[in-house]
Amino acid sequence: MRKEIIIVGFGHGTDAVISTLTREHSNYSIKIFTQEALPGYHKPPLSKEFLSGSLSKERIFFRNPEFLKKHKIEVFLSCPVKKIHANTKHIELSNGDKHPFDALIIATGSVPRTLDSIQNPYHLHNLNDAELLKKKKINKLGIIGAGFIGMEAASSLAHSVKEIKIFERASRALESACHADIANILTKSLVTSGVQIELNCLIESVKEADKKTILKTSDQTYELDHVLTCIGNYTDTSIVDTAEININRGFMINNFCETSAKDIYAIGDCSEYQNPFNQRYEVTTSISHATHQGQIAARNILGIESKMNKIPWFWSNQGNHRLQMMGYTQSENEFKSIKTNEDSLTKIYSHKSRVIGFQSLNNPIHFAKLKKVMDEHYTNVETIKIEHLF
Ligand SMILES: Cc1cc2nc3c(=O)[nH]c(=O)nc-3n(C[C@H](O)[C@H](O)[C@H](O)COP(=O)(O)OP(=O)(O)OC[C@H]3O[C@@H](n4cnc5c(N)ncnc54)[C@H](O)[C@@H]3O)c2cc1C
Repeated sequence: MRKEIIIVGFGHGTDAVISTLTREHSNYSIKIFTQEALPGYHKPPLSKEFLSGSLSKERIFFRNPEFLKKHKIEVFLSCPVKKIHANTKHIELSNGDKHPFDALIIATGSVPRTLDSIQNPYHLHNLNDAELLKKKKINKLGIIGAGFIGMEAASSLAHSVKEIKIFERASRALESACHADIANILTKSLVTSGVQIELNCLIESVKEADKKTILKTSDQTYELDHVLTCIGNYTDTSIVDTAEININRGFMINNFCETSAKDIYAIGDCSEYQNPFNQRYEVTTSISHATHQGQIAARNILGIESKMNKIPWFWSNQGNHRLQMMGYTQSENEFKSIKTNEDSLTKIYSHKSRVIGFQSLNNPIHFAKLKKVMDEHYTNVETIKIEHLF
């Protein structure tokens, strides 16, 4: 008899799970439950090519319906899972329906953060959000947060929206995301394209009035057409019972992507795993991470014992700039800076003479070289030495 595997959420991690399961000719019947009205799609273009208009909606979906049909994968759209019952091995939907499983993967991604002072917040987290932003007539756009999503959205809309102002609490853009020298190049480029950035800015309130949005900071009031809140994400763990599954900032997993409950796995943005560099438990937002964990969980379900063995990496496209980064990149560990021209900069980070991460702006050759070194040494990160690079 075929065994039942249930996957909660249809994002990047889930797509990797179904790739692996279908490739390995498994004896599982696969059911995917997603709260969204559409099957899984690529998220990075939502703040990049799709938002700027250079990529059509048809091209962002992972799979065509024929693939799902061919592999008998049942996708339940607009079906949020309300509770996972680990002990009795079934899920419960909001409408009360129950579905049993032999194995289950939690792949619910993250939830965008907001502030209590923002009435009716808008985010850029899913396809609906991106379509709303494209359809709405916006002359004056406010973006709260100069992180990756806020900066990418501003960059993608700079040619179509008359006025864009980013409001950032910190003293520079991308403060927790990348090196100041790299952030400065990206900021300068955005400002040149007409985007304004207010730094050290505290939001007091955002309210809607007469089809306008009134944004108040501690020293000024702005009348805008739309305000986007891009201040990071968190994991919603409420679908599990904490007596059954260990949670912290995410669903806690071991190197096999297993949670503390038998036959239940967690992957991608919603999982919390142990970083091999510092042994700390971390939640990582990255396509490469979600995809890798999806493959690992699927292989373990199939009985092919597999441990996580890749270091996550991340990219951000802003205008003509492409930033690629990998590993642990805290500024106190900066070791070497390589500038090949005005816009191309690579920062390498080390600790006790081993390379622990890097950030590379507009230099795909540096990225490829450094990624290869880090990929090859994942299983023994202690052995990544500076001399491997040069
Ligand atoms: C605008 C944007 C741009 C990005 N750009 C980049 C980039 O350039 N590079 C990069 O590496 N990463 C990027 N990311 C991050 C990347 O998209 C995530 O790391 C990745 O999608 C995580 O995959 P996942 O499978 O964990 O979750 P997701 O892909 O987020 O999928 C989770 C799915 O689960 C659904 N879900 C949640 N709860 C439930 C429930 N209870 N029941 C049913 N379904 C549920 C969600 O609605 C969602 O569809 C970007 C993210 C966004 C939003």
